[in-house]
This record gives sequence, C-alpha cells and structure tokens, in this order.
Amino acid sequence: MIKWLWFFAIVCILVSGCGISQKKPDHDRRYTQDSDGHELELKNEQKAASSNLENGPRSDNTPSTTSILESKPASPEPSASPADQPEPTPTSATPVPSPIRKGNARKAMPQPEAAKKPAVPVQQVQGQKQSSGRKLTLSQLVVKYPDTFKLRGSSQEKKVALTFDDGPDTRFTPKVLDALKANQVKATFFLLGAKASAHPDIVKRIVREGHVIGNHTYSHANLPGLTVDKFQKQIESAENVLQSMIGYAPKLIRPPYGAINEEQVKWVADHHYLIVNWNVDSLDWKSLKSEQVLQNIMQQAKPGSIILQHSGGADSQDLSGTVLAISPLVSKLKAAGYTFVTVPELLHVTKSK
Ligand SMILES: [Zn+2]
Repeated sequence: MIKWLWFFAIVCILVSGCGISQKKPDHDRRYTQDSDGHELELKNEQKAASSNLENGPRSDNTPSTTSILESKPASPEPSASPADQPEPTPTSATPVPSPIRKGNARKAMPQPEAAKKPAVPVQQVQGQKQSSGRKLTLSQLVVKYPDTFKLRGSSQEKKVALTFDDGPDTRFTPKVLDALKANQVKATFFLLGAKASAHPDIVKRIVREGHVIGNHTYSHANLPGLTVDKFQKQIESAENVLQSMIGYAPKLIRPPYGAINEEQVKWVADHHYLIVNWNVDSLDWKSLKSEQVLQNIMQQAKPGSIILQHSGGADSQDLSGTVLAISPLVSKLKAAGYTFVTVPELLHVTKSK
C-alpha cells in the first residue's frame, strides 16, 4: 500500500513538472508585453526630452539638461539694448476712445468701442501678443520706425499740438471749432471717412478755419485685426472722401485706439504716410468734466506734446468737458510760454501726402 502511495506521489510530481512547462508561453507573453511597454515609455521620454530640448534654447539660455528636468515658463523676449529702449510713452498705451456715430454714417460704423470693447490699454494687449514672441509692441514699433511713427515733436521747442479725433459730428465738432476760433488756435482733426461723407459742410468749415485734417480710417476699424488689403481699403476709402472735400490727400494717419501692427506700419512707410499717435491723453472720451480734462492735459503736457482729445463720439458720450476745457487750457499753456501749432508744423512735415 505504501509503495502505491509513493508511486502516485511520484506521478503527481511528474505531472506538476509538465504544468510548469505549459505556463512558459504565458510568461513569455508577459515579458513581451512588458518589453513593448518599456519601449513605449522610452519613446515617450525621448519625445519629451526632445521637445524640451527644442523649447529650451529658444525660451532661455539655461542648459538643455536643465530644461529637460524643469518645466520652466517661457521667458519674455530678450530685452532690447539700451539704445533700443523706447522713451516712456504713457499715452500710447491708452486706447483711443470709441466715440462714434450718428446719422448716415452710423450704418457704416461699428458699435461704439466703449460699449463693444473693454477699456484694455493697447500696450497691454500688445504685451500679451509679445509674450508669444512674435509681435512688436507699439513702443517697439515707434523705435523701429522712427520716421513713420510719431508720438510727439521736438522737446527743444515749447510747442504743443491739439488733436481731435472721431469727427466730424453735429453735436460737438462745431462747438470745438467755435472754442478754437475764439482762442485763435489752429488744431489737427483726425476724421472718419464715413462721418465726413455725412457732414461735408463741417469738414469744409474745419479747413476754412485753418485747421489740418488727418485720416482716422473710414469706419474706425481696429486695424491690427485686418489684412493688409482691408487695412488699405480703410485708409484709401477715407482718403478719397476727404480729398474730394478738402483738396488734398492727408499725409497724417491716426489709427483708431492708436493700434496698428508691423505689417501695416511697413505699408504706411512704403506709401509715404505718417502715423501720428499722441503722448498726452485727455481721456475726454470718458465724458469727463472740463476740470478733469484740463487737469489730465496739464499734468502731462511738455514741449513737443501731441494732445489727444475728441470732437465726435457715440450718442452716449458727452464731450462738453472737451469743449469747455479748451479756453482755460489755451490760457494756461500760453501763460506758461507755449505756442499752439498743427501737427505738420510740430513735426515739420507736409499735411498732404
Ligand atoms: Zn478714434
């Protein structure tokens, strides 16, 4: 009996041995799977490392090994050399108001900017674009294209230029003209083509009274969002309207909100126009009282200043403060030794293209 038990025990051991050999393929498959999985992980690591290597040198100067180990945020664009640093241009960072639209011109106009867009400083918007590493800020454009993009005149002459955007209209432009006439001051009006079409008599009055006219596009478009073709149409449509009324094609262009991109600046340079923004912002488009408009200007004005105000706006905007500030502004600046000139006089350029 015991012999039989030993016999069965030996048979069982032999059978177990066969079982091990049957499981071997499973083990091989697991190994194969592990091996594949491992290869995949290696590939991913290599891909990640490769990606970091590609990004590393572009985003900063740290060694590539560091960029593999760390997930660094993209560093800002290399700072300009001291010679490239623009002078502070506080008002170039401010969006031009959005006053707008009345009468026949209204259909061709976009909604008032103040209602349509948040009051985001242009500089800030440009800064966001800059972080992508491609777009130049307005300040950088001014530095790169000094003969095409102006914010002010010479600081060696105690002269300033008043500029009025977004006209002509029938509510405020005639009152602005009355105030300028009473104070014997010549100014520069950046007009919209669509509004000029609606109010040709006021355009002609502006010229008749000795002021200069510049181009503020046809329908107050936000230019950086336009193709060069559409940008060109905005400029040339306004120019055609204005030229038929005033007898010359304005050389001066003021982009709505002061905003323009590099491709468009190049187009402007190639076509012999001049971009004129400002370095003093009255913020009058906020329907400020005259005392506040006056204070905003007096705090920033200096020799060579180009001062931004408005002679037209949306129905909801009240530019009475602009009108009422003109007389005390002229008195104070004249008393301080300033003379008032048009933008072409300030910049020593012609008013026509
Ligand atoms: Zn404007």
